[in-house]
Amino acid sequence: MTSFNPKPFPWKTSTTPYWRTELDPLDEHRSTEELPVSCDILIIGGGYAGIAAAYHLLCSEEHEGRKKPPIVLLEARQACSGATARNGGHLKPAVYSRLPDFIAKYGAETASEYAEFEYRHVDVIAEVIEKESIECEFEMVRSFDVYLDPEQAVEAKNAYLKLKESGVAKQSIDDLIWTDEDRAEEVSGFRGCVGCFSSRAATLWPYKLFMGILNKTVSQGLNMQTNTLVTSITSTSSTGTPIWTATTAQRGTISAPKLIIATNGYTSALLPEYKSKIIPARGIASHIVLPAGAPAPAPRLPGSYGIRIPGAIDYLNQRPDGSIVVGGARSTFYATDSHWKNVVDDSALIEPAAHYFDTYMQRHFPSWEESAAEVEGIWTGVMGYNSDALPSVGEVPGREGCFVAAGFEGHGMPVIWLVMKGIGEMVRCGRRFEETGVPRILKTTEERLESSENRLASKQ
Ligand SMILES: Cc1cc2nc3c(=O)[nH]c(=O)nc-3n(C[C@H](O)[C@H](O)[C@H](O)COP(=O)(O)OP(=O)(O)OC[C@H]3O[C@@H](n4cnc5c(N)ncnc54)[C@H](O)[C@@H]3O)c2cc1C
Repeated sequence: MTSFNPKPFPWKTSTTPYWRTELDPLDEHRSTEELPVSCDILIIGGGYAGIAAAYHLLCSEEHEGRKKPPIVLLEARQACSGATARNGGHLKPAVYSRLPDFIAKYGAETASEYAEFEYRHVDVIAEVIEKESIECEFEMVRSFDVYLDPEQAVEAKNAYLKLKESGVAKQSIDDLIWTDEDRAEEVSGFRGCVGCFSSRAATLWPYKLFMGILNKTVSQGLNMQTNTLVTSITSTSSTGTPIWTATTAQRGTISAPKLIIATNGYTSALLPEYKSKIIPARGIASHIVLPAGAPAPAPRLPGSYGIRIPGAIDYLNQRPDGSIVVGGARSTFYATDSHWKNVVDDSALIEPAAHYFDTYMQRHFPSWEESAAEVEGIWTGVMGYNSDALPSVGEVPGREGCFVAAGFEGHGMPVIWLVMKGIGEMVRCGRRFEETGVPRILKTTEERLESSENRLASKQ
């Protein structure tokens, strides 16, 4: 059943994404049988953001030699069972299409700062995977953004040439390679492509990556508590410093002077001031395989993809075994809010998109035309969409000691790692937001909370 939720809490049951078909022993882990009554730092949300926060707080070289603070992470369902294990497995810095707007709104310097921040994530994630020896099928690829509409392609090319000439976000823009219509289909391998960019990206198995990070973090003392829904948070300040208390469903309460809310699309259930700022938004993705006994292996694709259909983007990456993860399908359901907007039910498919991926490979890739590829799995997931298109990061205005990092939309992979490093520095070292290297446009502020801008409302 799909329904509108006034308080968006995670749905109890969910569809099974491909990424959760090989579960880690920590999937339903509870470090202690009882919930501790207190700790130094409490994290709510056990996806990419919450797990990365715990890692930076406990495993960062910056804290080496210092006593580790008691940290507890509360997760409503299984570890890594939200958007993080339901996504496209695509780590793709991709800011060029948003840069003209960013420049107009925030200025060239701020736009560059944001673009370069995203761009760094491919290397930074590669480094942590190597440092922690995590098996997660990480592969550096060239990723194609394929355009299918000639007018959109010309617009994209012209905007890119203008950016290149201006020198804004130099590192990311220099990495883009544009191919014109005459060679676009041949270079991208995508039928009907009338122009494409390629850029540096990575593909990986997100559940394995973040469960690897979680394993490391638990070994360093994190108290992990799965299947522990937080129903509310309150603060008291008898000594002048607020103490935060989280009330859980059936497991009592836990208090801490520092609280990190990493609850993505569900944030407003605990922080109502974000109700119209971060909303749950349901998406859909699938896993496509060749049928058993197929006479030939799956044809290799030249890279991963963002497929730019006017008004929507599909995303696709090929796994090392040749199978495909592809998601998007917004063109089938985005016009009807009740299919996706404020919907937290990821136990059901989005009806109009349920067959969108059938024969996707045969239709779009000439090399797969004869392949008989079929959808082996399909699932939904809940993202956090923002009224001003930017995640909210930092100490929540008016709530001393309570930090938020949420609203990463369908694009958290090249953003969250360094955001959570910054949150770790604010929480453990007392640094100001501006000292952390997190782009200033992500800072959660009173002004943003009070702004009447609402790009989600204007989509109606
Ligand atoms: C279909 C789909 C495809 C996507 N594709 C891509 C992609 O290819 N590339 C990309 O960069 N991004 C993609 N994304 C987005 C990306 O997955 C997210 O931006 C990222 O995973 C967000 O991580 P998170 O930790 O903030 O959120 P989540 O992974 O959603 O984690 C939040 C956690 O908080 C828990 N929680 C919430 N409320 C409570 C509560 N009250 N008490 C206790 N626990 C609570 C939830 O159960 C959840 O586990 C996609 C998302 C979806 C849904």
